[in-house]
Amino acid sequence: MQGMTRIVSACLMVCLSLLCLSLPAWPEGGAGAAKGTKSPSVRLPGAAYAALETISPERIRWHVRYLSHDLLEGRGTGQRGGDIAAEYIATQFAEYGLKPAGDHGTYMQKVPLVGITTLPETTFSLIPKQGETMNLKPLDEYVATDQTQQAQSDVDADIVYVGYGIEAPEYNWDDYKGTDVRGKVLLMLVNEPPSDDPKFFKGKALTYYGRWTYKYEEAARKGAVGVLLVHQTQMASYPWEVVRNSNSGEKSSLKAEGPTLKVASWIHFDVAKRLASASKMDLDKMMQDAQSRDFHPVNLGARLKAHMVSKVRNFESNNVVAMLPGSDRKVADEAVIYTAHYDHFGIRPEMPGDNIFNGAQDNATGCGILLELARAFGASAQKPRRSILFAAVTAEEQGLLGSEYLGKHPPIPAGKITLDLNYDDVKPLGAPEEVEVSGAERTSFYPEVQAMAKDFRLAIRPDARPEAGHFYRSDHFSFARVGVPSFSINEGMKYKGHPESWGMQQEQEYVEKHYHQPSDEYHPEMDFTGDSAMARFGFALGWEAATLPKLIGWQKGDEFEAARVKSQQ
Ligand SMILES: [Zn+2]
Repeated sequence: MQGMTRIVSACLMVCLSLLCLSLPAWPEGGAGAAKGTKSPSVRLPGAAYAALETISPERIRWHVRYLSHDLLEGRGTGQRGGDIAAEYIATQFAEYGLKPAGDHGTYMQKVPLVGITTLPETTFSLIPKQGETMNLKPLDEYVATDQTQQAQSDVDADIVYVGYGIEAPEYNWDDYKGTDVRGKVLLMLVNEPPSDDPKFFKGKALTYYGRWTYKYEEAARKGAVGVLLVHQTQMASYPWEVVRNSNSGEKSSLKAEGPTLKVASWIHFDVAKRLASASKMDLDKMMQDAQSRDFHPVNLGARLKAHMVSKVRNFESNNVVAMLPGSDRKVADEAVIYTAHYDHFGIRPEMPGDNIFNGAQDNATGCGILLELARAFGASAQKPRRSILFAAVTAEEQGLLGSEYLGKHPPIPAGKITLDLNYDDVKPLGAPEEVEVSGAERTSFYPEVQAMAKDFRLAIRPDARPEAGHFYRSDHFSFARVGVPSFSINEGMKYKGHPESWGMQQEQEYVEKHYHQPSDEYHPEMDFTGDSAMARFGFALGWEAATLPKLIGWQKGDEFEAARVKSQQ
């Protein structure tokens, strides 16, 4: 099924966030709730405030109702239902009077995608200097994908152990130490050096350096032909089964633009142990050594010989992108962007019973919010100084692919986008009293976010499990990695009229019974008050970001600061 997809998908945030956050509701009688009386605490011009007040839970409901209808067949990427959803969203943007910001004067930005299935003809052998060749069994002992997107690739190369495979100047950490790894296969550990020091790889929190995607990317950038990631349940924070399930069947990615690996693979811990001892080394000691700044890469004297055979399927899907031009000519070439993914898992004809993955909560809710934001901005009698971009992105469930493409090909250069606010899987449960803005604290915008939350009478609920790396599993991350200050806005656990435990119970029930299942469907009892509250909060934040004298940045020393600086040179 879609195990890996789940791991990478933003929505996982929600499932794993049982312990996490909560959100507040739009306050009755709170900031600016009284018609026409602009609360002094919500720092918006009167016209903007009036536009904000038109944001309606019922309009969000109608969008969710339509987008999650069976006729849209689960909005699958590359499927007809997904294309209909995109066309619906584009039509709304047009109705709101927004300018097309996609390809060739349209609302559509074409995203070229490739589906890769590793075929059983693939062979994968570890050859120690002495002793027997280890011919590995697929799925039980290794999983591998050929990222070059070719039908066949061959690798016969030395294996070099590179510890965590991380080069992070801001933490004074470099596992490579300038070693030439071109043409090599790199054996490495998942995660990052353990630490409680918040200044060192953010302490317990996972940084992007700990994620397997980073490790593949860095190895490819350095010219390696392959990576063997050693799976260890504790370090990965999920068992081998997750790796296996996520890597069986087709894996989607963007059409390759940069360097790629012929072999992007995981090997089972036992295999790594055998390989180490056949190389007269000890895996436990190797793992110990990797925790030191003084670590140097070690050539194992062993080789990987692999013959990769893949089925390669090219297909495409669209991001839907619109723009409201800024009112101040001096900064109209700068922008705030709002994002929400519109894709879900589509329809699975081979599956008995209900086989339509409607994705009502995940993420028709985010689309409904995005559309309400677009409508409200479009209708506002006064326009913000900077431009506002609205993007409904595709292929999130395939690994944040639509947003990755948009981040690499933005209609306004990344260095001129001051902020991305993302919405994913916003529960229709009523009025929230908390808001989740994890990642906002890493930006120079956080004081404004805190003040705004206060105005909206929303308590900021912190990320309860930063070590799970949720920040890297939603579309805002695609913008963060090109330097744009970015975070998602979502509800927490505390809802008006209920104890926190109720919210957590609702969350748990959703994750167990509906998350990424055909039963994530629209019901008339759904209450979109909270979705509307999140939209209003995001409207106010976006307006403020579009008005501030300076562009927003990351806190000094943040892992995305370098990307921001580079994008603005
Ligand atoms: Zn999802």
